[in-house]
This record gives sequence, structure tokens and C-alpha cells, in this order.
Amino acid sequence: MSKIIDGKAHAAAIKKEITEDAAMFYMTNKVIPHLVVLIIGEDPASEVYVRNKHKACEDVGFKSTILRHPANETEENLLMAIEGLNNNPEVHGILVQLPLPRHLDEKKILLAIDPKKDVDSFHPYNVGRLMIGDYDFAPCTPAGIMEMLKREEIEIEGKECVVIGRSNIVGKPIAQFLTQANGTVTVCHSKTRNLSEVCRRADILVCAIGKPKFVTGDYIKPGAAVIDVGINRLDGKLCGDVDYDVAKDIAGYITPVPGGCGPMTIAMLLQNTLKAAKLQMK
Ligand code: NAD
Repeated sequence: MSKIIDGKAHAAAIKKEITEDAAMFYMTNKVIPHLVVLIIGEDPASEVYVRNKHKACEDVGFKSTILRHPANETEENLLMAIEGLNNNPEVHGILVQLPLPRHLDEKKILLAIDPKKDVDSFHPYNVGRLMIGDYDFAPCTPAGIMEMLKREEIEIEGKECVVIGRSNIVGKPIAQFLTQANGTVTVCHSKTRNLSEVCRRADILVCAIGKPKFVTGDYIKPGAAVIDVGINRLDGKLCGDVDYDVAKDIAGYITPVPGGCGPMTIAMLLQNTLKAAKLQMK
């Protein structure tokens, strides 16, 4: 039976730390960190994520603004809105909720955000800094995973780490973080051969695929730490990429879905927003 990594509890502890830190920051600088989230269109999943981010900001005493744009918004208008936020000294963090409607060029939109306000850390400048291990903003989901591993005292150095998924927002950056923490990292993807065999080598297995209950018992080394990033809907219920009921009897540690990586991602967004406010004061 594995230890369940309670991402919700870790996130609550981090939010408490951020609340105190933000209060101190306010006392010295009279500045309240301010996050602006742009949402384009009416994707129901995005609505939930945006609402959760807004509530989290309120919980820690930040200012939060949601800017809604219609699904048929022009690229020009959106770029103009971002430019206005870049130049507004009362805005510290800017986040464009993804995915965007098809007619908008995601790369162009993300490139328009001032890297100093890029609290998602998706701007190529910040991605580049991550690669050389010298960064201000860590991308939120991978940073949340690293924080959970740290708080659970799960050693990374010298350990076999396998990441399933190579996306820009999860797979690639978590592989980078684990490498920087001296893990021996293997990145797997849809073309990997003998996937279950490779995964069974892992002391730390990170699953970021987007396929419900894809990772079954034969992917997991007994005692491994299994980090389930996936958020999927199956029969009207949320589930991860890992077959949790089976995996929990094999793994040493496991993150649940919901209540694992999700709350930690939001906690890291708050951390980045506070950091952005601090950096902009300098
Ligand atoms: P993505 O679709 O960009 O990438 C999925 C990756 O999985 C790809 O690199 C692909 O090669 C790999 N893959 C697909 N099929 C595979 C297969 N059969 N075998 C091995 N690899 C395969 O997805 P993403 O943005 O990285 O997100 C992954 C999951 O994590 C999704 O469910 C997403 O909703 C979730 N997610 C959760 C959070 C969070 O805060 N908890 C944040 C981001 C993403």
C-alpha cells in the first residue's frame, strides 16, 4: 500500500506561506501582487481552471482580474490587450488560458507577454533560461511536482526517473528539473518501444499523457514514486493517467487525481505571481 501524496494539503501549506510573505511584502512596499488572466471563448474546462486561479488569488490576498474575450476575438485585439497589460505597472503577472481558439496563433500570443510578467513561464525567453538552470519563473505543473517530491523527502539524486510525455508544459520541463536534481532521466512518448518495460525501471515515474488509466500495474516498479499529472474524464468522473486502484498497491508513493498535481500547479502560479511583483519592484 503506497503513501498517498496529498497535493491539496501541500498546496494549502504553501498558500499559507505565500499569504504571510505577501503580507510582509505589502507592509514594506504597499504593493498587492496582481494577476491578470485572459480567457478567450467559452471552453468549460478553461472556465473551471480560471475560476480556481481567481479564487486562489483571493485566498492569499492577491488582486485577480479575469479578462474575457469572445471566441472570435482577432489576434490584433488580443495582442493589443497584452501590450496594455505589459505596460501597466499595476499588473505583475499575465496568463493567457490555453487552449486558444484555432484561428489564434498560440506561439505569437505567448511571445507577446513580457517575460517579466510571464508567470506561466511559457515565453521562449523563460524556457531558454530554464534550460540553463538560471530562471526566475518555473513552469507551474513541473515546479509543483518538484515541490511535492521535496516536501515528501523523496530523493532524486542518482535515481532512475522516467517521464511519459514530452509536451512543452509538462514532459520536457519536468525532465529538465529532474536532470538538474541529478536524477537519471528517460523521456518516453507515443513512439517509445517497450514502454512498460522502460517504466518499470523507474524509481520516480511521472505520467503526463492525457489518457485515462493508461498506466497499469505492469508499468510500475514496486516501491516507486508515481506522479500522475493527467486530468481526464471517464464516465463523468475525473481520473488520472494512472490506474490508481491497481497502482496504489504497488507504488511506494502516489499522487491522486484530483488532489495531487492540480492544487500544486495553482500554488506555484501564486508563488510566481508574488515573485513577479517582487522583481518588478527592483
Ligand atoms: P500533450 O497532449 O501535450 O502531451 C501528451 C504526451 O503524451 C505527448 O508527448 C505524447 O507523446 C505522449 N503520449 C501520447 N500517447 C502516448 C502513448 N500511447 N504512449 C506514450 N506516450 C504517449 O499533454 P500535456 O499538456 O503534457 O498534458 C498531459 C496530461 O496532463 C493531460 O491529461 C492534461 O490535462 C494534464 N495536465 C495537468 C495539469 C495539472 O495541473 N495537473 C497541467 C497540465 C496538464
